[in-house]
Amino acid sequence: MLGWLKNRVLGVTSKNGGGSTARNQTSRGERKKQGGSSSKRNSRNRTSNTQRAPHPVAISLNETQHHKQLRVIPRAEHGISRTQIDDAALKVLYRLNKAGFKACLVGGAVRDLLLKRVPKDFDVATDATPEEVADLFRNCRLIGRRFRLAHVQFGRMIIEVATFRAAHDNSAAARQNAEGRILRDNVYGDISEDVWRRDFGANALYYDISNFSVIDFVGGMEDIQQRRLRLIGDPEMRYREDPVRMLRAVRFSAKLGFSIDESCRDFIYDQGSLLLDIPAARLYEEALKLFHSGHAETSLQGLREYRLLQYLFPSVVDHLADPVTSKFLELAMQSTDNRVQNDQPITPAFLFAALLWPELQQIAQKRVDEGLPYSIAIQKAATSLLTEQVRCVSIPKRFTTVMRDIWALQTRFAYRKGKRMQAVLEHAKFRAGYDFLCLRAKAGEPVQDDCDWWTQIQVGPKPSPAGSGDTDTHAATTRNRPGRRRRRRPPRA
Ligand code: ATP
Ligand code: MG
Repeated sequence: MLGWLKNRVLGVTSKNGGGSTARNQTSRGERKKQGGSSSKRNSRNRTSNTQRAPHPVAISLNETQHHKQLRVIPRAEHGISRTQIDDAALKVLYRLNKAGFKACLVGGAVRDLLLKRVPKDFDVATDATPEEVADLFRNCRLIGRRFRLAHVQFGRMIIEVATFRAAHDNSAAARQNAEGRILRDNVYGDISEDVWRRDFGANALYYDISNFSVIDFVGGMEDIQQRRLRLIGDPEMRYREDPVRMLRAVRFSAKLGFSIDESCRDFIYDQGSLLLDIPAARLYEEALKLFHSGHAETSLQGLREYRLLQYLFPSVVDHLADPVTSKFLELAMQSTDNRVQNDQPITPAFLFAALLWPELQQIAQKRVDEGLPYSIAIQKAATSLLTEQVRCVSIPKRFTTVMRDIWALQTRFAYRKGKRMQAVLEHAKFRAGYDFLCLRAKAGEPVQDDCDWWTQIQVGPKPSPAGSGDTDTHAATTRNRPGRRRRRRPPRA
């Protein structure tokens, strides 16, 4: 076994020239850099040393002993071709490699390419520190405190470059809280250490640009073949380090159709409450990924099944037993998924407005019972509900404003004449509000009549603002009536 590994591993190393072998022998101390330590000089040396030969991801024999499952799968055996990799990602990989750094495509891109899917983005892992990456690319921005990263930008495409991480030490570069959650994660290491910091085996494959092989330390290839999500290492510890991995398990399961391995399931049912400790801004990012990747419907089912929805949208959980609500949410998710599939624009406001709608109506109804008009009751309910909601998932104001608009329009679809009707039609968010109305109708809310009326009015000629039909009058009748003559206002100065 070791002989085979030795050949494979040394084959990878020696194929690419002596410069890289020398680098293999550099002490781990040199490689284990901590966040913030720039080494420009080091970077320049590497550049001049390695102009001639591409730099392989070297794996020492010592490392193979810690990684009993290590496999290096050569180009001919894995089917990933460079033509499937975005040019921007290739540019980053090649430049890093030419400068003497190890450079691999990693994570979802490798997984998706092996699954013959088009990757959503291309993430790169390297032994260059973020500062060294920034030295190599003018179009580079360093981001993140908890997890420092380099973003290399090519037009609208951003290639995320992460430095190989090592296990935690007690330095300022790494911090964990009492529950084991990682608060800061900037201890750098080498690829064989980095692999333990990744979440699932299927996300822990490295495509090495120096020789186009795929490096598999933890049986990720088999996980992909078996279509399963298995956390690397002890599941409880890995979830405690970062409880968002529970949401990621649900998301990847929905997106890839993979099953969550038995060893990683029970903890999610029992310890979802660890998510309460995650900053609302991070949960917002994760919620977007769950609902906007074209798999919102299955993601919602997963969140329900694993009892995680309550940590993202607590108010919706009590309403799920109601078949109309359940249907409404299912339809909203389907409609978003269809739009993603057809490359139509989507706004997070629509889905979030849908998720909060059942509770909003309940709160508003109480206010109506206390004597408030429906439209005011909805506004007041929106304020109190959103104040609560943004504590869990911090939806930005630009979207909560649109959510309020969508909800307010629901109270205004009763206007079918005159200026008020015209104002609804010309409202900037009319289309979203109208779609929302028709989904409600389709789910079984008693608003089918409104939906039909507003559908009809959009296909005919524009109605006169001064139309005077009854609320139930059909649009055509309203449109055919001559409008009241109005005095023209002088133009504003
Ligand atoms: P997607 O197709 O959604 O982009 P992805 O697997 O690429 O899926 P990213 O969020 O882009 O997911 O992360 C890239 C890689 O970084 C992951 O594949 C995984 O190896 C690692 N990673 C990301 N988030 C975590 C995390 N919370 N814990 C451990 N590893 C993570
Ligand atoms: Mg990715």
